[in-house]
Amino acid sequence: MTVMITGGAGFVGSHICVELIHAGRKVVVYDNFCNSHPEVINRIRRITGTAPEVVRGDVRDVEALISALSAHGCSAVIHLAGLKSVADSVSKSTEYYDCNVVGTLRLAQAMQQTGVRNIVFSSSATVYGEPDMLPLREDHKLAPFSPYGRTKMQAEELLSDIAQSQSPLNVVILRYFNPVGSHESGLIGEDPNGIPNNLMPYISRVAIGRLPVLNVYGNDYPTPDGTGIRDYVHVADLAAGHVAALDCADKQRVLKVNLGTGRGTSVLELVDAYAGACGKTIPITFAPRRAGDIASYYASAELAANVLGWHAKRGIAEMCRDAWNWQRKNPNGYLDQ
Ligand code: NAD
Ligand code: UDP
Repeated sequence: MTVMITGGAGFVGSHICVELIHAGRKVVVYDNFCNSHPEVINRIRRITGTAPEVVRGDVRDVEALISALSAHGCSAVIHLAGLKSVADSVSKSTEYYDCNVVGTLRLAQAMQQTGVRNIVFSSSATVYGEPDMLPLREDHKLAPFSPYGRTKMQAEELLSDIAQSQSPLNVVILRYFNPVGSHESGLIGEDPNGIPNNLMPYISRVAIGRLPVLNVYGNDYPTPDGTGIRDYVHVADLAAGHVAALDCADKQRVLKVNLGTGRGTSVLELVDAYAGACGKTIPITFAPRRAGDIASYYASAELAANVLGWHAKRGIAEMCRDAWNWQRKNPNGYLDQ
C-alpha cells in the first residue's frame, strides 16, 4: 500500500512517515516546503533506512496531485498540508482559506479523478471553541474563534459532504489536541521559524538558551494553579493514531475522532516537567492572558480507543524528555545538518 502524505515534511507529517514506513507502507511526501526543511527527508531515511518518495508541489495544484497520485499508485492520502498559525490566520485570512479550504477541495477532486478513496485529515481541537463541558467529546458543538479554526471546520464540512456524494471518499477526520515531543532518536522534531507561538517549542528555546525567559500568559485562570490547561499528546503517539485511522478508513464513510490523552496539564506543570527532563531551571515571567485563549480543555479519548483501538502511551515526562533530546541535539533545528 502506498500512502501520499501531503505536508509530510512538516512536524507531524515527518513522524507519520516514520510510523508508516515502520508499518511496512510505502510513502510519498507531497509538500511545497513552505514551512519545512528538505533535510527532514534525509533524517527520515536515517531513522527508517528508507527514504520516502518526494514530490515538491502545492496542494492547490490539481494536475500535479493527479500525476503524483497516479505515478506512485497511491491508495490513500493523509492530508496535513496547511497553514497553522492562529495569529497569522487573522492578518492573512485569504491565504489561510486558500491553502486550508481550497487546498482540501483540490485534493478531494484529484482523489476523485484518480479513484483514490481513503483520506485521513488533520483537523484540530480548536474547532470546538469554548467548551460547554469537559472532556471534549466529538459530538460537542463546533464554534471556532479564529479564521484558522474556521478553515479546519470548513475543510471537515466539505470532506463530510463529499463522503456522501456520487463519487464518495471515505473520510477520517482526526482532531489533534496539542502535539509535542519528537521521535526518540532526536533526529526529527518541531522546528518553527522565528519565535515559537506554542508553549513546548518556546520552553525548548529557553532551555537551550536561544530565548531568555518564558512568558506565562495568565496566572488568574479558574484552574488549580491559575495557568492554562491543555491536553498535550506525544507526536509519536499521534503518528501511530494515523496508522490506526488508515486501517479503519473504509469501515465508515465519515469518522471524526479526537487524538488526545484525555488528561490536562497546566503551563506550570509542563515547565516543571521540562526542567526535570533537561536538568535546568526554566526562567518564567507572568504576562497578561493571550487574546482568545481558553482556560482549560482536554479530550475525551474514548472514541479513539473504541473505534481506532488507539490510545496515547507516552506521558508528559516522555514528551519533555524527547522534546529536549531533539532541541539538545539540534540547537538550531534542521540548520544543524
Ligand atoms: P507544519 O507546518 O510543520 O507542517 C505542514 C506542512 O505542510 C509543511 O511541511 C508545509 O511546508 C506544508 N504545506 C503548507 N502549505 C502547503 C501547500 N499549500 N501545499 C503543499 N504543502 C504545504 O505543521 P504541523 O504541526 O506538522 O501540522 C500539520 C497539520 O496538522 C496542519 O494541517 C495543522 O493545521 C494540523 N494541526 C497541527 C497542530 C499542531 O499543534 N502542530 C494541532 C492541530 C492540527
Ligand atoms: N502559553 C504560554 N506561553 C507561551 C505560549 C503558550 O503561557 O509562550 C500558554 C497558552 O496561554 C496556553 C498554553 O500555554 O495556556 C498552550 O498554548 P499553545 O499555544 O501551545 O497551544 P494552544 O493554546 O493553541 O492550545
